[in-house]
Amino acid sequence: MLLSMKEMLMDAKQNKYAVGQFNMNSFQWVEAILQAAEEEQSPVIIASTDRIVDYLGGLRLIAATTKKLVEEMNITVPVTLHLDHGFTVERCKEAIDAGYSSVMFDGSKFPIDQNIEMTKEVVDYAKAHGVSVEAEIGSVGGTEDGVTSGIKYADPNECFRLVRETKVDALAAALGSVHGVYQGEPKFAFDLMQEISEGTDIPLALHGGSGIPDHQIVKAIQYGHAKINVNTECNQAWAKKIRELLSNDPELYSPPAILGPGMDAIRGVVKEKIRLFGSNQKAKTHVH
Ligand code: 13P
Repeated sequence: MLLSMKEMLMDAKQNKYAVGQFNMNSFQWVEAILQAAEEEQSPVIIASTDRIVDYLGGLRLIAATTKKLVEEMNITVPVTLHLDHGFTVERCKEAIDAGYSSVMFDGSKFPIDQNIEMTKEVVDYAKAHGVSVEAEIGSVGGTEDGVTSGIKYADPNECFRLVRETKVDALAAALGSVHGVYQGEPKFAFDLMQEISEGTDIPLALHGGSGIPDHQIVKAIQYGHAKINVNTECNQAWAKKIRELLSNDPELYSPPAILGPGMDAIRGVVKEKIRLFGSNQKAKTHVH
């Protein structure tokens, strides 16, 4: 069974660790992420960003395949399947109907009143299905799936209003992280982070978790982040391994000999992040 992320994030926030959200880019990512979480006995959030859903065969195929992998691999740790950056209210509802156990509605590009209204519609639908919801305020900059934008820091008063009026389970407040590769060290607004975390009292979600120095990750967790999203670093490790294999041996074409080591590289990054976030050995064993 796929679980809502509500309980796992509350536990993480209380005990000052974070659960990693790792994005899938093919079903081999799902396998590698599940193996890593099981080996580390960590709860885990596996996500498909809305932009990759059609490429992977649609919401229903993703949900059914993830569920089946969890069962067939005898996974005992808690697993959430999350829609990352859901484009529309409708899309979030479709994901819930397809079997996702968590969704993010990204209304950050809309004026706050509209963001609140749309997020609330998603929350009402999700709650009736036992599904958790994440909202976004401000704008996480950088490049994600080929789309580039600048950072717009979250406004604490907007965060307080959105959380109070929608009752979301987690909040992605843009506070200086960016998606993709950083130019220099990220410029986090730790003062705003503390204010928003204390004022909302719900787990914060850190987008753009790749390439952030470890000491800043540790501080972000201390300041209220209970969910950290990682995509780019897994992809970079996968691409580096495959590039190395193919350039070292121009005769190589066997898929398992190429893709197997690629998966191992993803698993290695996921395990490393799980330990850094402190969610290793935090799984409350679950029957799926
Ligand atoms: P990175 O690609 O920077 O790790 O960001 C992942 C993310 O935030 C997904 O929403």
